[in-house]
Amino acid sequence: MQREVPLGLIFNIQKFCLHDGPGIRTLVFFKGCPLRCRWCSNPEGMTSRPELAVKSDKCISLKSCGLCASVCPQKAVGQNEDGRVLIQRELCSSCMACVEICPAKALERMGKLMSVDEVIKKVKADEAFYSRSGGGLTLSGGEPLLQPEFAVALLERAKEEGLETAIETTGCSEWEKARPVFERLDFIFYDIKLFSSELHEKNTGVPNRLILENFAHLCEEFPDKPVTVRTPVIPGVNDDVQQLQTIADFIEKNARSKKVRYELLPFHNFGSAKYEFMGKSYPLKDLHSMSTEHVEGLKKQLKTAVPLV
Ligand code: SF4
Ligand code: SF4
Repeated sequence: MQREVPLGLIFNIQKFCLHDGPGIRTLVFFKGCPLRCRWCSNPEGMTSRPELAVKSDKCISLKSCGLCASVCPQKAVGQNEDGRVLIQRELCSSCMACVEICPAKALERMGKLMSVDEVIKKVKADEAFYSRSGGGLTLSGGEPLLQPEFAVALLERAKEEGLETAIETTGCSEWEKARPVFERLDFIFYDIKLFSSELHEKNTGVPNRLILENFAHLCEEFPDKPVTVRTPVIPGVNDDVQQLQTIADFIEKNARSKKVRYELLPFHNFGSAKYEFMGKSYPLKDLHSMSTEHVEGLKKQLKTAVPLV
């Protein structure tokens, strides 16, 4: 009997990306993440259910339009001081009736159930760019490992279609669920944000035991897999060389080949507007983006045999 493939909850498919694997890539963003990083730049990917995003500056005005208010069964639609849409989140049931009717696209659904066929069709539309650039499909999120059956089915189908595949992952999953996903990938970006589990929990909401253990499993079971470990460098959290050195040492201890590399990513606050769209508050709103020069300076101080990117 043929296995039934579940649908995936996807919140975005972004084309022509250049920094998430080799060549030109299409990113498929899985909705739902076990971490709550204070610096997260994709807050619309955190929860494992569809959510309403509100771009009130696109709203025509409640007075001259008001269609959303007319269809809302929860009476959750109000107006801000400019007369534009303001959703009372505590009343909203995420029925999405307002999204369907809004003529200005001020209201957007974040999170849609999609089949493997639907995702592959969108990804394959840019196939010509992948073959010329060595690019392909990258699973991102949120956390793709939270939907392991869909991820496996998508990767198998991508392989049948001749697409190169990569993942951006927190590594926070049971190994038995993560393993079949990792096994099918050509390239892995693996986040290790902090080595101290206590600091990790304080800043991301979860301890890092699973993440470190899974990295060790990954190196042991797939020693030739190209893996880039990434650390987002966050001011006041992990922007000192001692903390980064502990991560570099851990990578060096576990890596079995030079295909395992280490990359430092400078903090940026590009995601701050999205918190407003999602009705959430951004914990690091007063923090400025970090320069690449600062990160390059930290990189130069690391002592490691692991190739630095
Ligand atoms: S999603 Fe549904 S309940 Fe929420 S504001 Fe829109 S119409 Fe109202
Ligand atoms: S339907 Fe759209 S444009 Fe009209 S009032 Fe509501 S949010 Fe504004």
